[in-house]
Formats: sequence, structure tokens, C-alpha cells
Amino acid sequence: MGIKISNLNKNFGDFVALKNVNLEINKGELTALLGPSGSGKTTLLRIIAGLENAGSGEISFFGENVSRKSIKERGIGFVFQHYALFRHMSVFDNIAFGLNVRPKASRPSKDEIKQRVMHLLKMIQLESLAGRFPDELSGGQKQRVALARALAVEPKILLLDEPFGALDAKVRADLRRWLRKLHDEIHITSVFVTHDQEEALEVSDKIVVMNKGEIQQVGTPVDVYEKPANPFVYSFLGNVNLFRGRVGADGIVSDESAGDLLFVRPHEIELGFEYSAGSKKGEIVHSRILGSRIRLDIKMQESADMVEVDITSAKFKDIKEKNLKFVYLNFTSVHSYSQEDGSFCDYYI
Ligand code: ADP
Ligand code: MG
Repeated sequence: MGIKISNLNKNFGDFVALKNVNLEINKGELTALLGPSGSGKTTLLRIIAGLENAGSGEISFFGENVSRKSIKERGIGFVFQHYALFRHMSVFDNIAFGLNVRPKASRPSKDEIKQRVMHLLKMIQLESLAGRFPDELSGGQKQRVALARALAVEPKILLLDEPFGALDAKVRADLRRWLRKLHDEIHITSVFVTHDQEEALEVSDKIVVMNKGEIQQVGTPVDVYEKPANPFVYSFLGNVNLFRGRVGADGIVSDESAGDLLFVRPHEIELGFEYSAGSKKGEIVHSRILGSRIRLDIKMQESADMVEVDITSAKFKDIKEKNLKFVYLNFTSVHSYSQEDGSFCDYYI
């Protein structure tokens, strides 16, 4: 076991920021804390680091209780969204900082420090920029230097709080792939905070989904995406159409009085141009491009529900050429959630 958190609670005044958190994080894994803003991710990370005291509960690292240990004694590396590098120091000196400030007895020799920094520079693919100053780096390069600086002191645990949050979409996507690759090489036990479900799904070995200070589900990306524990997880991990209703002999029936919630992802709906058994008529209200797919907003004729449907750009071209306003939808898989007993049931139609 890497990190074990037991019965952790944290209040700010009357406000409950973390409620009975129990969590086990495997040694060597990259774990994402995923949840909306305000769900308690940063608070949990700061408590793990020792930057914040827990109200109650226990934390252990590799089997040792560290609840009362100082941040220094915990042996942690940190990367924040805005982890300001020292502006007056070169990239090399920034990375070497944590080693240079060690007391003489535990400080590596100048040569050893140089070797270690050069090794880290190679790892973050910035070998040629050792002499630059932070102002001469891009945002993505700065965050890579911040990561190297955190790793220089050889922490046992690496904590990252929205490290790519301030960067633009393309750089973010590159950096998360890069972080995944780096983690596969060094296998340091890491906890990564993000509110971005795509980032969590792509980067992590495990995802901890949080909402309102409580853990909703812990699992692999495939687990939480395909077997969500509750409606919150279902809705938070990717786009979803939600109806109140039931699944009948010929497909789904919208029914405001039904106790069940029906979830259908936009790619689980087939779109046809003519009526077929079980299909539902709807009107195309809006369309937008999502990379290689097109997402349509469709108003269902019978129930007036708004539904999002993903189609290929070829199909969209067809719709435009035929000048179609009305289409027919077939719900190919429906996930029904019983509010009575909290169970999910999958229908494939
Ligand atoms: P997240 O990182 O998931 O966005 P945080 O852990 O930062 O959420 O915050 C969780 C909740 O706790 C928020 O509602 C926030 O306003 C509150 N909170 C965080 N830190 C403090 C503090 N020092 N004092 C009072 N409330 C706080
Ligand atoms: Mg936060």
C-alpha cells in the first residue's frame, strides 16, 4: 500500500469540506482525484502533504502513520497550477534548489547535483535549456521544470494539483501524454488533482471521483466510465442524456412520473432518415463540431425532451444535402438507474 487514508474529516467552521474519507492508493500508481470545483480535492491533497491539518482521521504512507509528521518529514514532491519558479535563477538552479539548500551533511557533492539535474533535464526533455531563466520559457516548459524540481529531492510521493490547469488545450493534451509516459518510467506513487474528466481518464491508473467532500467511486478509468456507481458519476464522466422513464418493449418511454432515471450517451443513439420500429421522431435544433464528430441537439417530438446525438461528419453532410429538419432516433443502449434501490441496469436494444 502506498497511501492509506482512514476516516478523514475536515471542517472549515460549519462547512464540511471532507466527510468520512477512506481511501487506499497503491504504491507506484498514478491516481487522479476528480470532481467539480469545490468538491474537496485540493483540501484532501493538502492534508496528504501535511500543509493542512485534518479534523480527525489517520494517514499512513507505506504502512507508517504520518498523521503527526511535518511536511518536511513526509518526503513529498509538489507541483501546483501556479508553481512559481524562482525568477532570478536559471532552469538548472531551480531544479538543483532543493538539493543545494540541504544541510552540508546530507547535501550531495557539486558533481552529484550536476549529474542529477542533467538527468532530470533529459527526462523532461529540456536538456538544451539549462541556462535559461523562467521568463524565457513557455507555460508548458515551466511546468515541466516545476516537476523536475519536485522530483530532484527524490520524494517518495508526488502530489500534483491541477498542474496543467493554466495552459491552453493543445499544450495540456501534450503534457498529459508526456506525464503518463514519464510516470511509466519512474513509477513514483502520485496523486493528481483535476476537474477535467478527459484528463483523468487519459492519464491515471485509478480515478477517485469526489463530490461535496465525499468519495463517490474509486476505480480504473474503464470502471468508472462503464460502471458508474451512481447518477453523479455517470453525469460527471462524459456527456449524457438523462430522462425520467422506463424501457418498454419497443424502446424507451419518457415518463415524468417514473421512478427510474435513464441515461444514454450521445454516441449510443443511432440516427435514421426514415421511421423504423421503435424509433422516435425529433427535430434538429442545433449542430456543432466536436473534432471528427458532429453533435446535434434534437428536440423529441413526442416528449419535447432535448437530446444530444453524436454523428459522423459524412452523415451530417448527408443531412445538409437532403435539407432534413426531422430525423428518427434509435436508442441502442440505455442505462437505467433505480432510485429505489440504487442499482443500474443496462439495456441493449
Ligand atoms: P476543489 O479543490 O475540489 O475545488 P477545495 O478543496 O479547494 O475544492 O475546497 C473545498 C471547499 O472548501 C470549497 O467550498 C472551499 O470554499 C472550502 N475551503 C477550502 N479551503 C478553505 C479555507 N481555508 N477556509 C474556508 N473554506 C475553505
Ligand atoms: Mg482545487
